[in-house]
Amino acid sequence: MQPACPCDLKGDTPLDGKEHVFLSMAEAIDAIRTDFYQYPPQRRLFMDLCPLILGPDITIADDPRCQCMWISRPGRTRKNRMLRITARELGHTLITALENAPPSTEVIAEICRKTFQTRAEVAGNDKGGKTGILIETDMQGFACRQCGRCCQVLDYRHELSAADYRHWQLLGRNDILERVATIRHGSRIVSYAVWVEPGTRRFSETCPWLLPAAPNHGSGRWLCRIHEVKPGICRQYPGTRKHAQMTGCAGFGD
Ligand code: SF4
Repeated sequence: MQPACPCDLKGDTPLDGKEHVFLSMAEAIDAIRTDFYQYPPQRRLFMDLCPLILGPDITIADDPRCQCMWISRPGRTRKNRMLRITARELGHTLITALENAPPSTEVIAEICRKTFQTRAEVAGNDKGGKTGILIETDMQGFACRQCGRCCQVLDYRHELSAADYRHWQLLGRNDILERVATIRHGSRIVSYAVWVEPGTRRFSETCPWLLPAAPNHGSGRWLCRIHEVKPGICRQYPGTRKHAQMTGCAGFGD
């Protein structure tokens, strides 16, 4: 996923509190998995991470002829020691290995540095005292241009959280709730889908809360009609500089 936000951040408004994020080990692996799957396969990154995740004995070689790679399988005979693998398969192999046998926190921090292209270090959690990874979001200099791209292009239809839904229930925001479809298992809600046409399960073509900032003057800027209570996934976008760059956000002006 990766969503959305004509917000009211203007000019150089600092993003207080967003400079660092602390992740437990499980959350860090989760974030790495999300990064791997939310963008097209990151061939160079995956190759770079191979020794860290699969071990120093692994060798991997690019094969431009077939848009794939060859990876060594230690312990095999010379004849069938190399396996052909696509970038997508390699990403999957790396995540599976990370989940099945998580490396040390130091190695996870190094993987985070390479994956999120930012500083990351081992740190203790102030609250629980548990060790995790402190990751710099690298968001200095970000300023939303209110271009509306994230709201119109990115797919966040299945990213609504139960907390968002409960929040709107508590506020009595039926105007928002009627645009949310619930997916149930028996009587239990298991996930949500946004935004649907009221009274149907048909997705709206565009976000219904997005409005031109100056309808008659063609400013090219957009506003969110539910900015104060918009979904967490929209509030948190973009999570990092890399996230912004990989999803075409203009907020860094580069
Ligand atoms: S500048 Fe980025 S965050 Fe702001 S509206 Fe455009 S794409 Fe969304």
